[in-house]
Amino acid sequence: MGWLSTSMLASLLATGSASLLASLLAPLLVTSLASSAIAAAAEPAPEAATTSTQKSLVTARKWMVSSANSLASEVGRQVLRDGGSAVDAAIAMQLVLALVEPQSSGLGGGAFIVSYDAKRRRISTIDGRETAPAAVTPQLFMKDGKPLGFADAVNSGLSVGVPGVLRALALAHQRQGRLPWSRLLHPAIRIAEEGFAVSPRLNAQIKGNQHLAAQAAAREYFYPQDQPAPIGYVLKNPALAEVLRRIAVEGVDAFYHGDIARDMVQAVSAHARPGALSTQDLAEYRAIEREPVCSRYRQYQLCGMGPPSSGPIAVMQMLGMLQQHDIATMQPGSREAVHYFAEAGRLAFADRERYVADPAFINVPVAAMLDSRYLLWRGALIDGRQSMGVAQAGDPLGLLKQRGESGAMDQPSTTHLVAIDAQGNAVSMTSTIESEFGSKIFVRGFFLNNQLTDFSLSPTDARGQPVANRVEPRKRPRSSMAPIIVLEDDQPHLLIGSPGGSSIILYVAKTLIGVLDWQRDIQQAITLPNMGSRNRDTELEQGSALESLQQALRQSGHRVSIAPSPSGVHAIMIKPDGLFGGADPRREGIALGD
Ligand code: GLU
Repeated sequence: MGWLSTSMLASLLATGSASLLASLLAPLLVTSLASSAIAAAAEPAPEAATTSTQKSLVTARKWMVSSANSLASEVGRQVLRDGGSAVDAAIAMQLVLALVEPQSSGLGGGAFIVSYDAKRRRISTIDGRETAPAAVTPQLFMKDGKPLGFADAVNSGLSVGVPGVLRALALAHQRQGRLPWSRLLHPAIRIAEEGFAVSPRLNAQIKGNQHLAAQAAAREYFYPQDQPAPIGYVLKNPALAEVLRRIAVEGVDAFYHGDIARDMVQAVSAHARPGALSTQDLAEYRAIEREPVCSRYRQYQLCGMGPPSSGPIAVMQMLGMLQQHDIATMQPGSREAVHYFAEAGRLAFADRERYVADPAFINVPVAAMLDSRYLLWRGALIDGRQSMGVAQAGDPLGLLKQRGESGAMDQPSTTHLVAIDAQGNAVSMTSTIESEFGSKIFVRGFFLNNQLTDFSLSPTDARGQPVANRVEPRKRPRSSMAPIIVLEDDQPHLLIGSPGGSSIILYVAKTLIGVLDWQRDIQQAITLPNMGSRNRDTELEQGSALESLQQALRQSGHRVSIAPSPSGVHAIMIKPDGLFGGADPRREGIALGD
């Protein structure tokens, strides 16, 4: 290993040479393993998970993908080279990500897919959100009249929702797939069998997660020779390869019925805090095609996933409120820009907490929340000099009195990918198992999600009002994921989204303003420091130039906190002179195209 330093390893991984790296390392690691030298393999820098690497704008003419991992992006580009559609590329990338970025998404999770059909000139959305089992009650996370501790709720069978990602992918393939389904699974099967090199980020997350090792099946896979798998260690996942083979041949029914479904149910009910997932819940799961939520911003039309996601609505509200303050004229990184952006975030989050939940259970006043007069009025509440501190929800449809305030938390894991094909079909998809490694329940090579902790753990708020986003049987938890396609003259102009829990809303809004208002290229816009408020503190990205604004912001009444902001924005801009791809320097992703 001496010839390959830690920084070279990191840069090979960051620059998209993971497959090269895997092949370089495989024989070495087999040798070092044989001599029990795992601990001697390259040690990661402890800050590896958050360190930013410089990334450059990627350009192409014909097609492009951008995702959180170079192996996934390579597979996606190959699918496009083989004549596959954007949806085909997204499917193949997602299945590779399930393997190589298992902390973020996978077969046991859920996803939202926003796609543009170039022939029909139409945006459609597919909701593959996890669903609460039929046997849950609103008291799911309550014990002795109090909500469970968040970690206890997450790391349990209680938090496992019925996985939706595979049904969503199958439905997308039915609508907009071009290559045969089984062709799209083969790359993930091959890499699962041959192995992939553990990335610095995955290594840091294995090392940093105390709950992972507590689950026997996860420990066995992620702790070869009882140590967290080191950077560059070649992990093989034959159990996942077998599940994928079955799905390649039999379709996704192989997952939702039969022995794989039984194994998931068994793992959830065998947990020390068992959940209610049943084989019937799995058999009955359906992905839902929904109308996109769209709104205008300047000359653009933004379209994204509607409820149960709150993400695109909140992003659109923020932009709608900022429009009257002409953020385009403010200097990025100035006190003024951070102030207005944070205040708009407060107002959007106040509405989000009251109104957004699964639309099958509650009236979500989407049109009223995005009405331009309402947003004009809301935006006028922003005082240029002084922070409002905590924003109150508006009442766009006379519902405020009946709605409790949600206290749902979410944790930054998740993944976002984008693709555009030769015909101009496009996909923007965010996929998740919720927390890092989900519920930590590892079955047949994949994690089961903990998505039900995206519900409010308590069914009522402090005043006893029922919370819209409370747990109910067969309900989908509210999300913050914000896969969006921006159109200009009815053509895709930008494909964008991010992981990051509820901060997704701020990450995506900042990047959109960076491109649409501040005229940055997509890579520069992604790289701009993260900032904003979720109606709590005003958050500034740790280590960024924004830290110098603390004093000035405090003087205008902001309670400031400095924290890491691990966004993972992957995006593609479509312009007359070509395709321009960006990947977030805070994670390991890469854009690739031809
Ligand atoms: N579960 C979150 C949501 O759906 C996403 C979590 C994350 O981004 O890490 O909003």
